[in-house]
Amino acid sequence: MRAVVFRTPDRPVEVTDVELDPPREGEVRVKIAAAGVCHSDLHVRNGDWDVAAPLVMGHEGSGTVTAVGPGVTTVKEGDRVVLSWVPSCGRCRMCLAGYPARCEPAANVLLPQGVLYDGTTRFHRDGERIHHYLSVSSFAEEVVVPESGAIPIHADAPLDVLALVGCGVATGVGAVQRTAGVPEGAAVAVIGCGGVGLSVVQGARLARAGRVIAVDLDPGRAELARGFGATDAVAARDVDAVAAVRDLTDGGVDFAFDAIGKIETTEQAIAMLGIGGMAVVVGLPPTGATARFEPLALAEREQRIVGSNYGSTVPAEDFPALVDLYLAGDLMLDELVSGRRPLEDAEAALQDLAAGRALRTLLVPAM
Ligand SMILES: [Zn+2]
Ligand SMILES: [Zn+2]
Repeated sequence: MRAVVFRTPDRPVEVTDVELDPPREGEVRVKIAAAGVCHSDLHVRNGDWDVAAPLVMGHEGSGTVTAVGPGVTTVKEGDRVVLSWVPSCGRCRMCLAGYPARCEPAANVLLPQGVLYDGTTRFHRDGERIHHYLSVSSFAEEVVVPESGAIPIHADAPLDVLALVGCGVATGVGAVQRTAGVPEGAAVAVIGCGGVGLSVVQGARLARAGRVIAVDLDPGRAELARGFGATDAVAARDVDAVAAVRDLTDGGVDFAFDAIGKIETTEQAIAMLGIGGMAVVVGLPPTGATARFEPLALAEREQRIVGSNYGSTVPAEDFPALVDLYLAGDLMLDELVSGRRPLEDAEAALQDLAAGRALRTLLVPAM
């Protein structure tokens, strides 16, 4: 079957034939309907992070279960699923405490080593091991994932667009609802209006935040956020974003989300906070990058800086709930999709994302 394989940042990603083994115990095989192209894929492509390569790219996807391995109970052949990139073990300290997005074996072994729970991969080619990316690898015709990474969706919704639920939307909405717990009436700033940032904006709208200030370098993107629930738009290319947000809120916001993950944007998020404010780091910087803040201000003003991984999501609960919100017209997904392309266009889709030309491209293997 065809898949998009990353080997080295020196050359374009390769669309090639890869062998896929059948699912083993606790695993399911999924035929991919669509895969979203997310900024994390771009970080991988650009060599920003240490990953186990070669790997099959992609970590946002939806599809249909085509086979299940022994012992699988939560999904069956024919089920429609959204893939989760933290396939929680269900047994570690964090899973038992109700934080599956912090699952320790997933974070310490599966994701960094690019393997499944038995320490091996299902992808290979001519005897060469090809790794999984975040246990999803959705830039492929078919994948094998752990059972906990395939969340059944029983609602009658278009399957391709639901791919977005599996990373960008769960991350953005979850950062607001689960990580930060934004209360009604709060003043919120969101830096970055890409797929994740616009999902943070939607999460803030769903939380009935009083003020939702969208910040983006591109004035068009900042304005676009109004359609997703922003009350104000700040074009950071033209003005000092921190000063603009502080002016709009009479001294700073209650919550500032950095949906970009650059050093400047993380520092801006902290600087935008009012007394008691919380800065939430959602976007992911390159490995080793460090930001600065003033500890005195943090202590005197009782501010907090927190990280949000995958929106602290609980996939088995949150994915179906997000689909219900979409069907009720309360969550915009179609508006986040800027185009659909075949797997062969993966490199072009990544370059469009890098250049700010695409919001969310869906790779559709059947195209
Ligand atoms: Zn992502
Ligand atoms: Zn766990």
